[in-house]
Formats: sequence, structure tokens, C-alpha cells
Amino acid sequence: MQKNLNNLYLKSFIRCKRKAWLDYQGNKSKKIWSPHQSIEIINRYKTFYKLSDGDLYSGTKACKRGSTGVIGLKARSKVINNINAEIQPQLLKKVGGRSKWGEYKYIPVVYKLGHRTTKEHLFDLAFCSIVLESFQESNIEKGLVISNFSNQINIEKIDLNQRLRKKVLNTFLNLNEYLKRSIPDITEDRKKCTICSWQNFCDKEAKDNGYLTDIDGIGSKTALFLQKNGISNIKELSAAKKIDLGEKLFQFKEQKFEKASKFIKQSKAYLSGIPIRIFENKNLSYLLLNKDSGFFIFDIESNPDEKHDFLYGFLKVNNLFQNIEDDFYDPILNLKNNTKKSNREIIKKLFSKKYWPVLHYGETERIAILNLARQLDLDVKEIEILKSRFIDLHLIVRGSWILPIRNYSLKTVANWMGFKWKQKNVSGSKALYWWIQYKSTLNDLFLKKIIKYNRDDCLATLQIARWLIKKHEKIN
Ligand code: SF4
Repeated sequence: MQKNLNNLYLKSFIRCKRKAWLDYQGNKSKKIWSPHQSIEIINRYKTFYKLSDGDLYSGTKACKRGSTGVIGLKARSKVINNINAEIQPQLLKKVGGRSKWGEYKYIPVVYKLGHRTTKEHLFDLAFCSIVLESFQESNIEKGLVISNFSNQINIEKIDLNQRLRKKVLNTFLNLNEYLKRSIPDITEDRKKCTICSWQNFCDKEAKDNGYLTDIDGIGSKTALFLQKNGISNIKELSAAKKIDLGEKLFQFKEQKFEKASKFIKQSKAYLSGIPIRIFENKNLSYLLLNKDSGFFIFDIESNPDEKHDFLYGFLKVNNLFQNIEDDFYDPILNLKNNTKKSNREIIKKLFSKKYWPVLHYGETERIAILNLARQLDLDVKEIEILKSRFIDLHLIVRGSWILPIRNYSLKTVANWMGFKWKQKNVSGSKALYWWIQYKSTLNDLFLKKIIKYNRDDCLATLQIARWLIKKHEKIN
């Protein structure tokens, strides 16, 4: 039996045509669990519960009895060209008016995780309102977009006018057509793929076909531009001549030859699996100069929406190549945002070895510690000394090597260098998911998982430092 088209497919379609197709008829066993999606579901439920003052119930029964908030409702009708459509609105909110249930009616509500209200939110509201109007026998003029930052609910009213409804119905017809065709191409904007549950499935196809967007630094616009100039895959890019390609890449202005050289080398490394050394980076010299000293290796876990760094993990080593014992790692938890106690503990720890460099991967850690030092009113001189101790391995890797990988995140780089995280399929988003679980259950098991993950992040950072030093010694 053919499935009804619904607002969820429509939302996917706006994001990526291929995603809608896969959601509708793809092999579900190829999907991966997305922590991002789970975080959204948990936060969404909490926010809806608050918005409904706890009077939140499920399905048609809840509509009949007039609950303030209704989740889990499914309603069907024909919206255009006799096509069956179904809606599964995220939330219905009771407002004044008249409907088939009595002296009240419902309007649709969507939750947004970030700050931006997108076409996906607007179209979801408009499509749900079209089906809901005939279901509840009452007109709907407005929908709501809800967000929640630092425990503050924000409500944005959306005018569901005719123009918006017309656009939605056109997109719906388009969706209906696309689903009858063969699978659409992978989206040109691969940034969208990072939070998609079909990512592994599409990554494999992109790799097999040598998609240009698999090359670090090549986004959808550059890929399209290269295709127009006769370079349609990684193999062709790797065979290009620096001068010819540089002349074509005029949009990068004075950096055009540097970009051309980087793209060609990145393609060569990607195809051969062999890393390419580029420059002697000044940060690398600092690392090498200090290689016989002791080091702190530092990594933070945070909830960006609440600007809360909830775990500061330190690995303390007397020498980068010594065997790691359990007590080398010290996790400092900051369970309540901004407690001076944990801040002082962190600074005390860093100053317990005043001249040891602090290794980290990416700029977040350095920024967080310097902010913390300022909050504790450390004097300018001390802050300057602290600043000079940070060594960002991400900058060193990017500045001195081209690796045969798609991106230079800690996970990708350390994995390629042979590091394995003890827990399977982990990521910063998964750690955040555990943190949200911990906050609602206070079950220490989640904290243990986060700490184990953070310890591995510190060890992965150490592995990168060791690799850089060993490679340098081998070459020189
Ligand atoms: S992984 Fe990317 S291309 Fe594939 S369905 Fe998701 S968003 Fe579309």
C-alpha cells in the first residue's frame, strides 16, 4: 500500500530532496541514530510541556477534552489534486475560537533548536494548518515558532497567509513528483549532511564517485564552479596543473594559486591515502622545542545553547611518550553553570605546573580558559603567561600537513592516526545528549559515559601530538 505524504517528508524535502526520497522509500537499516535529533526531541518535549502549563496530552481524545497542548495527533485530508496528505504536528496549542469540539480551536506550533527561523519551520506550520483546518472545522490565521534558551521560552507568531500556503502546496506537488522518480543526487551543500541520519549511506556513495565536496575547503559553490570549468571529480582535480587551476579560481583573488595547490594536493592525498607535508608551522616548532617537558592535555564538553561548559578534562603527563596511567586524567565537573569553585580549581591546576604547555585541539579550550581567568580577576601578566602556554594542534596539523581525509575534526584526524574511542559511535553531540539525559534523570551513569568520552578525547589529542613529533623526527 502506498504511504501517505506528510509534513515530515515535506520538511525533509525542503532540506534535501534526496533525504525526502530516502525517508519515504530508502532502506531504513542504512540509517544511523542521530544524537542531534534526539536532543531536539527531548528539548522539544520539555518546552512544549512548559508552554502547555503541564496540560499536555496526546491524540484526538486530548483535542476533544480541550487540553491546552496536544501532541501525537495524526490527521488526514486531500489537500490538492486529490492527493492524500497526512499531518503529524509537533504541537497543537489551544486558543480562543470555535471548532467542531466546542468554543476553542487549535493552532500548530513548531520547535526550533537554533536561533534562525527557517523555511522548514514556516512550511511545516502552513502545511499542518491546511489539513488541520478541515479536521477541526475552523480557520487558522497564525502558527507559533517556539525556542528555549537558558530556560526562557521565546514565542514567534507566524502569519499563515495565502502566499505562504500557495508556496507550500507547490512544494507539496513537487515532492509528490520527486518521490515517483529515481533517487535524487547527493545535495551540493554537504554541510547539511553533518546532522542527517542518512550520512553514512550518502558518504559512501560520494566517496565511490569521487565527489569534489569530499575535498576539504570545497563547498557547493566551488564544486559547481570547478564542474563548469571541466573538473567534475577528485581524480580530475588531482591531475590539474597548479597554474591552470589557479588562473581559473579568480574568486579567491591573491590566494588563487595557494588554493589551487592545496586543492590538488588534498585530492592527491585523498586518492593515494598518503599524507603530504606542506610547511614548517611556527606552532609546531614550539611543540618540538618543548617536547621533553611535561604537558597538560585539555578538552572541554559543553552545551552551547546554554553557554555551559560542564566538564573540563585534564590529562597530565611528565613526558608525551610515557605510558598513560589512570590517575593522569582529572575531570573537573561544573554541574552548575559558572561556579567559582570549579573555576578556581581549574586555574589552580593549570598553575600547579606554571610553565607546562597546554595541548588542545581547536580554539574553544583556549578561549574558555582565558575567559575564566578574567572572571577570576587574574592580573594581566598572569593571563599573558597563560595565553602563551596554549598549543593548538588543530592549527599545527592544518598548517603543516595535508592528510588523506575529508575534514580535520579531532575525530577524523585521530581516527586516521589509529586512535580508537572506547565507546562506539561517539561524538560531541552524543556527549551533549548524555548530559541532557543526566540533567533530567541525575543518573551518574551518564556522567561516567561523558567522562570516559572526554578522557578519550584527551588521549586522541595526545596521539596527534605524538604523531606530529614522530613524523618530524623521521623526516629531519
Ligand atoms: S546525507 Fe546529505 S545528501 Fe544524504 S540525504 Fe542527508 S542531507 Fe541529503
